[in-house]
Amino acid sequence: MIQVLDAFRTPLDYARLTREELRDRILRRKEELNAVILGHNYQRVEIQEVSDFLGDSLGLSQEAARTDADVIVFCGVHFMAETAKILSPDKTVLMPDLRAGCPMADFVTGDSLRRLKARYPDAVVVAYVNSTAEVKAESDICCTSANAVQVVDSIPADRTILFVPDRNLARYTAEKSGRPYVVAGQEQGEVGPGSIVAWDGYCYVHDDLVLEELAEARRKHPRALVVIHPEARADLLAEADFVTSTSKMVDIAEEHDELIIGTERGLIDRLKQRFPEKTLIPLSGAAICGNMKMNTLAKLAWSLDHGAHEVVLDEDVRERAERSLRRMLDLSGGWRAPTAEEEALEEAGLRPGGCGCA
Ligand code: SF4
Repeated sequence: MIQVLDAFRTPLDYARLTREELRDRILRRKEELNAVILGHNYQRVEIQEVSDFLGDSLGLSQEAARTDADVIVFCGVHFMAETAKILSPDKTVLMPDLRAGCPMADFVTGDSLRRLKARYPDAVVVAYVNSTAEVKAESDICCTSANAVQVVDSIPADRTILFVPDRNLARYTAEKSGRPYVVAGQEQGEVGPGSIVAWDGYCYVHDDLVLEELAEARRKHPRALVVIHPEARADLLAEADFVTSTSKMVDIAEEHDELIIGTERGLIDRLKQRFPEKTLIPLSGAAICGNMKMNTLAKLAWSLDHGAHEVVLDEDVRERAERSLRRMLDLSGGWRAPTAEEEALEEAGLRPGGCGCA
């Protein structure tokens, strides 16, 4: 039980403090609580500056599980804090703003997935890690955007797969795996053996990237290669030189001098910091996840002082969600210590953990 400090009652009270006052308060309170602060790659710079670890949701949750901290504060979106709790059941997990949810994860609920499973009782369920704990618990195995093809290829070719919640990643994975693809609710007649039946969800940040923006970026930078995240639409992916997860985007940025990059701006801004001599152009200036930016220093300070908002999971749900995550980790080699190169990237805030925002 965290002892509440209530000198300031609401996040608004904290917002009146200077950035330095907030930083000092956060760092002092973090020591008192034996807490670690996890900052996702897409968080505001001032949040990243006080974070103990930077990266994607799975990598951060794994890092936090290996520490002896009593408290984890996850500065990201809700499913990410849930993932930290799944992997660290004995630690208290807090998030500064409960409203910081992921619209893509929210497309599918445990109930709606159970209804789809009832229509396909023999199907294998693959859940992208950008999903709620309840959805992970209803799934057979998780995947990231970096290992989705590997996960799907591990499933017998004649088994139908329900892929949730991202239809774009599902379509891309089906194409790479040579499986038929259909969106749930749009089936026409019998679904063939081995098909991927995709949930009709998407990430608005990536789904909103459009061909016109790409054409404009290409007109200004005709020599640039194009790299796009597989959460984008198929017509855009067809135009890309590379379709890849954010981890591989870091590798590609190392190898090429001029790139148009289709993913969230936060990642591109960090790539620019790391490679200031290169021309790295966001495919769209509007590709910003507002949900990720809901966390502020004031809310983080309030969260630490008030022990809020605690993420609590039903133990049965947590265990089943962990089983799906562990299956994926076993398949993809499980957790391993970072290489020297990965540590260097981590220092630059670019830990190559795995995928999109997760
Ligand atoms: S970038 Fe997309 S997938 Fe990530 S949190 Fe935002 S809406 Fe969700």
